[in-house]
Amino acid sequence: MVEPGLITAAALDAARSLIAPGVTTAELDAAASALITGRGAKSNFQMVRGYRHTICASVNEEVVHGIPGDRVLAPGDILSIDAGAEYKGWNGDSAFTFVLPDDSRPEVVAARQRLSDVTEGSLWAGIAALATAKHIGEVGTAIQEHIEANSPDSGTYGILREYVGHGIGRKMHESPSVFNYRVADPGPEVRPGLVLAIEPMVVIGDQATFVEDDGWTVSTIDGTAGSHWEHSVAVHEDGIWVLTAPDGGAAGLAPFGVTPREIA
Ligand code: MG
Ligand code: MG
Repeated sequence: MVEPGLITAAALDAARSLIAPGVTTAELDAAASALITGRGAKSNFQMVRGYRHTICASVNEEVVHGIPGDRVLAPGDILSIDAGAEYKGWNGDSAFTFVLPDDSRPEVVAARQRLSDVTEGSLWAGIAALATAKHIGEVGTAIQEHIEANSPDSGTYGILREYVGHGIGRKMHESPSVFNYRVADPGPEVRPGLVLAIEPMVVIGDQATFVEDDGWTVSTIDGTAGSHWEHSVAVHEDGIWVLTAPDGGAAGLAPFGVTPREIA
């Protein structure tokens, strides 16, 4: 799963490098698609029934599952891109959030960047927890605690309840569910061979969402902005390795005192 993980990371890099005002989300989709097929891999999003695209592109109040198309990116937009590659029968899945600069609205940009930074931090907190966890439930507890500890004074960020992370392997979506919040059930035991897609979805306001008329896009009901960060992470005999980060997660995990171990 190292190879599909790195192809997924490269596809997201290809999309990220094009983000600018005036660019459409369809153009980002095309760049990710070309990267994946160019590496001899397949878009696993296109294998999801009814979905024809390589990425999900969710803008502003859209949190996840936004459909790329002719929407033109504007200054100040907060955009999350989610993508995955299947290579030699194994899968990767990863997402990031990007805030476009806007000199005319510095406070909006700052609030959105903080949301993205705290959401990304919660992802790394969850991955760090997995390194020593006995049960998968510890991941969600760590994510929630990070969100609560780093929310702004104006109010605690909302964590989406209806959408969660998942196991990943031969299929992109496998059991078990990986909650982004504390649950009573400790969940399955963490053992070598386990690979999880951990993916906190966090919003500035209330966590309640609805699905748009397109049947896919998940947006906040209160209209506040959302952020989504995701990595596919392997647990193996020597430790953990973030498959969708070229450094295995070393930079992201350093603040938590966790060192990823390469898969022998
Ligand atoms: Mg994903
Ligand atoms: Mg996923």
